[in-house]
Amino acid sequence: MDINNRIEQANKKAKEFLHHLHRHPELSEQEKATADYICEILTRYDIPFRRNIAGHGITAVICGNGDRCVGIRADIDALPVTENSGLSYSSECPGVMHACGHDLHTAILLASGIVLKELADAGELPGKVKLIFQPSEETIGGAHAMITEGVLEDPAVSSMIGLHVDPSCETGTATVKSGPMNAAVHDFFLDIQGRQTHGATPENGVDPIVIAADSIMNLQNSVSRLTSPVDSVVVTVGQIHSGTACNIIPDTASLGGSVRALSNEMLEFVKKKVEEIAAASATVYGASVSITWRGTAFPPLLNDKEVTDILEETAGSCPHIDQLRHMEKPSMGADDFAFFTEALPGSYFTLGCSKKGAERYPLHSDKFAADEEALIGGIEMEVNAVLALLAR
Ligand SMILES: [Zn+2]
Ligand SMILES: [Zn+2]
Repeated sequence: MDINNRIEQANKKAKEFLHHLHRHPELSEQEKATADYICEILTRYDIPFRRNIAGHGITAVICGNGDRCVGIRADIDALPVTENSGLSYSSECPGVMHACGHDLHTAILLASGIVLKELADAGELPGKVKLIFQPSEETIGGAHAMITEGVLEDPAVSSMIGLHVDPSCETGTATVKSGPMNAAVHDFFLDIQGRQTHGATPENGVDPIVIAADSIMNLQNSVSRLTSPVDSVVVTVGQIHSGTACNIIPDTASLGGSVRALSNEMLEFVKKKVEEIAAASATVYGASVSITWRGTAFPPLLNDKEVTDILEETAGSCPHIDQLRHMEKPSMGADDFAFFTEALPGSYFTLGCSKKGAERYPLHSDKFAADEEALIGGIEMEVNAVLALLAR
């Protein structure tokens, strides 16, 4: 059978997978039923797999003729959002929604796996493919834990690809970028311990709110005064909690934020400044401060030139990809696919998922509604890129 016919057939199944996954989203680190469903499909198509890797992660290996092994990753987790998309297959789990499109990533990878297995059975797969279904992208970065547990070994993966849907582009668009694509990021929590007193007598207490304000402003100054204007750095404080009344100076204040940069070196430099600034502000006013960094820092996502060139060539041969875009500037967003591109040559691309003329809502929005007609372009890209990478 012609490969495009195989992909057309698999696309019908991908829609079915998408509807099921979208109806039954699960939060990061809790993707048990999602993993059960993926394993059920892999079993149905006779694709051997290993499960319970780094939580609910799964790897499946398809063996053709050849030793080289290409990896494809899909993240499988959803977000704590109440769906308001109006889709006929909306979430049946209140407060949980596939608002980042990871259900499309999973459905595309399952369908690509089905096509690649058919090719292997027909003797038309010149190597091996490892399908990586990764949990916890939205929280702790499941990619790091999966790599630590050995998913890139046995068989050793030589290059990786992955995709993310992009509602800012129309269905049929693929976007590639060589070099830096996403930022390195590390989240922090800052707890300031002051001393409570009456709002009229600040001299009798230690005001943690003033220290929080001082720290926040100095963090912004550190970006503008201590780093070069041509190095991209962002420090965002997204949470601040303190106090109960207008006329009481509270005991404590806590902040939560993130530091982003395009290199590990710059990230470490700014992280050190965050700690020094918080400690210095606290010292001036006589408070104590503690800072916690959440999990492992995500490295910057750096796409390999050769693998990106192959993705670009592949896009030209996919019937449902009619527009290839080159991303000009990196995004300061982050994705834990970066752990894969840190470990070996890989490339991440995005797939437009907005219907022509339809209103567009961003990822993580409760109204985000991906066009299911975007699935087929993703399957074509994954299958054809794997064949090209194995044929090198
Ligand atoms: Zn997301
Ligand atoms: Zn995502």
